[in-house]
Formats: sequence, C-alpha cells, structure tokens
Amino acid sequence: MIYLDNAASTPVHPKVIDKMIPYLKEQYGNPSSIHRLGRAANSAIQNARREIADLIGADSREILITSGGTESNNTAVNGIMQHGRGRHVITSAIEHDAVLEPCRRLEKDGCRVSYLPVDSQGLVSVEDLKREISEETALVTIMLANNEVGTLQPIRELAEVARSKGIVFHTDAVQAVGKTHINVNDLGVDMLSISSHKINGPKGVGALYIRKGVPITPLILGGGQEMGMRSGTENVASIVGFGEACKIARENMEQNIIHFRNLSAILSRRILSEIPATTINGHPQQRIPNNVHVTFLGVNGEDLIIKLDENKVAASTGSACSVKIQKASHVLKAMGMSHEQVTGSLRLTVGTANTREEVEQTVDILKMVVRELRAVSPYKSKYNF
Ligand SMILES: *Cc1c(COP(=O)(O)O)cnc(C)c1O
Repeated sequence: MIYLDNAASTPVHPKVIDKMIPYLKEQYGNPSSIHRLGRAANSAIQNARREIADLIGADSREILITSGGTESNNTAVNGIMQHGRGRHVITSAIEHDAVLEPCRRLEKDGCRVSYLPVDSQGLVSVEDLKREISEETALVTIMLANNEVGTLQPIRELAEVARSKGIVFHTDAVQAVGKTHINVNDLGVDMLSISSHKINGPKGVGALYIRKGVPITPLILGGGQEMGMRSGTENVASIVGFGEACKIARENMEQNIIHFRNLSAILSRRILSEIPATTINGHPQQRIPNNVHVTFLGVNGEDLIIKLDENKVAASTGSACSVKIQKASHVLKAMGMSHEQVTGSLRLTVGTANTREEVEQTVDILKMVVRELRAVSPYKSKYNF
C-alpha cells in the first residue's frame, strides 16, 4: 500500500512502540500509587509531559494530557465558556468538527457564535476578527493549519488582536505540529491542541497547552489527576508513546519538513503538468508542507479514492475523521468552490515514511484512473478532456 492519508492518521514509529511495551508489561502500576511501580509510572508520565512541552516551547506544567485532539478542542471551548466570562465565541467557518460541534452546542445553550469567513485560499482576515469582537467575547478559537487544504492561518496576528482585548485565544494545531516550527510564546496563544496519532504516536492520546493563569473549568471530575483538570487513571503506555513521538518529531523536524516539501512538490508539479483540468487548492505559500489538495474537474472524488484503493494507494477527500456518510466539505464550500469542484477534490498527505518512488508511482496511477473516470464522466462533453 502507498499510504498518502497522513492527515487522517500516521503509522506508529517503531521507537514509539518499543518505548510503550514495558508500560503494558512490567510497569503496570497506577501513577497515583505510592509504591515504586506507581512512582515509575508517574515519572514516565512527567517525562512524556516534558517532551510534549518541548515540542511547542511550553512549560511542562502548562500541558494537560487528554484523549486526543477532539477532547483537547472540547476542553478548550467548554472549559472557557463554562467559566462564564462572557457569552460570545468567535471561530472560523473551516474549523474541524471537534471545534464546530462544541460551538453549535453552545449556541443551543444560548451563547452567540461568530463563524469568520475565509477567502478562496482558506485564509481568515485579521480585520474580520477585529470587527466581530464584542464586550461579550470570551474566546477566539481559530485553527493553525486546516486539515483539508493545509492553509496556515496568521495566528500570531489573530492572537494579538484577541489578547490585546483580554480575550482567551485557542488554536487547533493538530495538523501543524511536526510540519512547522511551533512556539506557543512566539505565537502568543493561550491554548493549543495537539494529537498523538497525527505525529506517528498511538491513537487516543493528545494534549492541550493551557498558558499559566488562563482560567478554565475542568470537564471530567473525579480523583483529581492532571492537576485536577482531568480526572481518571492515566493511559500510561500511550502517554509514554506520545512523549516519544514528540521527541522524534522535534529532533527530526528540519529534515522532515524538507522531505515533505520535496514529495509535495513532485506531486503538485507532475499532477498540474500531466493531468489536464486540475487545480491545486489552499494557500500556495502559507501552508503545511505535507498536504497537496487537488481538484480534478469532471471526476467524483469518492470514485477516485476507490480506484486509487484498487491500485493500492490510500488517499482521502478531506476530513476522513468525521463521518462515514459523505457530506460536501464545509471547508471547500467556505472557500467559495462550486459543487462540481468540491466533489472533484482529493487530498494527498505525505508522511515521514513515504518515498520519492511512491509519489512518482502515485502520479502515474492518478493519470490512468483520472483518464478512466473522465471517459465515463457526465461532464465529458462540457470539458472535452
Ligand atoms: C485529527 C484532527 C482532530 C482530532 O484529533 P483526534 O486525536 O483524532 O481526536 C482535530 N483537529 C484537527 C485539525 C484534526 O486534523
């Protein structure tokens, strides 16, 4: 299989697995226990917390470990809004469902939510944010990198606007981590979400950076683990794996970025020049280096994915992590794409394990399957491919 769906999930790094095994076998103590097995588990968690913090330039006391990106986003949105500093949230129209759905719930509960529009390249405007801020605004949450088209938002400028008014700023950085250098102090954000399985760690674990002093209400109550912010016995092995994945991502960041950039360049250059009636979407410069989002006019993206799968290439139309029932992408619609463009879109996301040969082969396969699909396309006469 040629796996080009690394935005949906990534293979677990072998070193991560090696680190995790002892915590599933011999080191089974409860991190809250006083005996040495408990202390060993607790110290493993604290080491992992330091690795997570180091990846984003935070202090380890500012890292809340969660069950993943979804829980981190829910904790950020609800944790702030339950604190009751105001009844208005500002977000963007292209967020992941793990931000949009908590926002919709807040609307049902009587809060006001503003969904900032984006331009055709997927960018939020700083001016739009300034205009939306009101006396009641308690939270601004805007993602760092979009999971479908890869556009990077001007988070530093956006966060500055919010913080100058004393409003908490959160960013979902799940897709950006490991693909661009992130420092929470340079960005000036108050909260930032990360997920382990998007950076070659195990699934079901992630983190929320919470800047010291930001007042947030815990959502899961019980034994008081995670500084009282998230009760429940810790998922020790997965946390250890996540910590190792962060360490590997940090140590290899520079070379990974170059690798991603090279593979993406081959994909986009060859697709544009060798397959007619195609466009590459998202911002051409302000983007993560591992995402190539393409529209093939006259082709149905889902048919394309099935054809690619038959040829042992794994790709996606966009947010695979949402639902099985395919609904038209809210991201592409917000970028002003037509129904035909939206349904003809494909997301290719490369990872550390991909090779040049794999992406070259993928383009060869794409050329063939796009030609096949276009031969039977209802749009055939319109384009004369
Ligand atoms: C994958 C993803 C999430 C959800 O993370 P999980 O760990 O799978 O819950 C949230 N936001 C973005 C942008 C994502 O890509």
